[in-house]
Amino acid sequence: MKILSVPNPLLRKKSKALREVTAQTRKLIEKLISTLREDPLGIGLAAPQVGVLEQVIIVDRNVGQEEEDLVALVNPRVIAHRGKESRQEGCLSVPGFYAPVQRSSWVKVKALSKEGKPFELAGDGMLARVLQHEIDHLHGILFIDRVADWQACELNESCPYTPQRVKELAHGGTPKSI
Ligand SMILES: [Zn+2]
Repeated sequence: MKILSVPNPLLRKKSKALREVTAQTRKLIEKLISTLREDPLGIGLAAPQVGVLEQVIIVDRNVGQEEEDLVALVNPRVIAHRGKESRQEGCLSVPGFYAPVQRSSWVKVKALSKEGKPFELAGDGMLARVLQHEIDHLHGILFIDRVADWQACELNESCPYTPQRVKELAHGGTPKSI
């Protein structure tokens, strides 16, 4: 599936929570997983990034380790968080652009599995960050909305935007961190 990039308006919509996990949801999960696997840098993906406004995200539970372990979370919610930390962050929907974002350093998330069973996933470091980043997508929030220090942004050759353009594409102010 094609990953949408800013300023696509679908990235700004709120995704709906699913009443149940159906065969159609599982098909979507499979498509999200194969789309994420195509991108060597991808460690997470949210359904709205492929134009589907449903509360489904995929994250690599083994982020930072060699063997990836992609897990699907349906209707994910942060139920506990601790600490704050700022780190450079990027997004497949804002290609080639990286900037520091402050997030909770540890989170616990509750969700439904692809089998429709409730489960919890807790983590710190990059796992905590990717969980918060992907859950933001379900609410139409992009990491660029949370950038506090635009001087510290970095762009690589695949970035089609100028920093000024990215700033324009960000929603003004700094929304509260989770
Ligand atoms: Zn993203």
